[in-house]
Amino acid sequence: MQRATPRTDPATGPGPHPEATPGPRPASTPGPRPDPVRAPWVPAMRLALAESALALPTGDVPVGAIVLAPSGDVLGRGHNEREAVGDPTAHAEILAIREAARAVGEWRLTDCTLVVTLEPCTMCAGAIVLSRLARVVYGALDDKAGAAGSLWDVIRDRRLNHRPEVVPGVLAEDCATALTAFFDDRRAEKPAPESV
Ligand SMILES: [Zn+2]
Repeated sequence: MQRATPRTDPATGPGPHPEATPGPRPASTPGPRPDPVRAPWVPAMRLALAESALALPTGDVPVGAIVLAPSGDVLGRGHNEREAVGDPTAHAEILAIREAARAVGEWRLTDCTLVVTLEPCTMCAGAIVLSRLARVVYGALDDKAGAAGSLWDVIRDRRLNHRPEVVPGVLAEDCATALTAFFDDRRAEKPAPESV
């Protein structure tokens, strides 16, 4: 066995995963560093982003959510339908959770993950805890109403028996851009005041 030569390039040679190899990174590495916590959720967040766009035709704020089974299968999807159906509780997360519970056949979404483009509000954070989801993954922060770390942290409140894991900031920029574009468009649609 001669392969344990320390000069072997750890990025290309066999052996432990590059992330597990301590040592300096090349200073010239372009772009953001790989993020082992968030990277696995990027494909699911893209599905949630696609779902969020379905809110646009009814003038709803584009928020999308999906619920994943432990296998990775999609059990439920939802997009904000507050305007579409005139229901203040028709948030993306609630609709995705309901669909997932129907698919599973019971109210406990044990070991399942909710992926949503915007940090959940207090109502949705409550529903996430009550549905026993294992994990919440979200994109953009909501510093005005977020209840998963920014304004409140309902989901990880230590007084609760069940505390799902929280993975914030997955594709945060893409998620925030979709929301900003919506509000910019809405402002632009308002007629400018007449200056007669
Ligand atoms: Zn909500």
